[in-house]
Amino acid sequence: MSLITDTVRGVWAMVVGLWTTTMELKDKPVTIQYPEIKRPVSARFKGRHELKRYDNGLEKCIGCALCAAACPADAIFVEASENTDEERYSPGERYASTYEINMLRCIYCGYCEDACPTEAIVLGDNYELSFTDRRDSIYTREMLLDPVPEGGKPTPQKVEPGVYTRSIPVMEDPK
Ligand code: SF4
Ligand code: SF4
Repeated sequence: MSLITDTVRGVWAMVVGLWTTTMELKDKPVTIQYPEIKRPVSARFKGRHELKRYDNGLEKCIGCALCAAACPADAIFVEASENTDEERYSPGERYASTYEINMLRCIYCGYCEDACPTEAIVLGDNYELSFTDRRDSIYTREMLLDPVPEGGKPTPQKVEPGVYTRSIPVMEDPK
């Protein structure tokens, strides 16, 4: 008698399981086919850093190292060099000739972004940061710099004397 009861219970459980599975089939799959498809991140997401440019291609970073000073993990190294109108990288006197972030140290707090007076360093939405050699954890200025925007020119640029004297320009996006 108990064997029959157990069999009936087992078959019933199987029917319920199959019914539940069948009902799920009508729903769209929740699996995202990464990396072909990337799920949008939230607006507050802090991913890999980007060094921004103005519309004309000049770099926003002026090499002031305030980001490095604000970084609690001591992850940023900045070395500044002088701009000239013959070879101009950014508005003002100086630009970051070396800019490095050690991604093994970074805790993605965003303090560097908050400290930057020119909004040059921004934590973007890129989360693809894997590497297999610890030396690859140093992200250089060349890796971090955004591509030159359409209509802009790469740096260094030869510019009119006296136009870009201010490190923090009054213009948002100098032409
Ligand atoms: S996000 Fe935070 S830890 Fe990372 S480089 Fe910026 S200030 Fe340093
Ligand atoms: S990213 Fe901003 S805070 Fe850091 S060196 Fe450049 S201008 Fe200064």
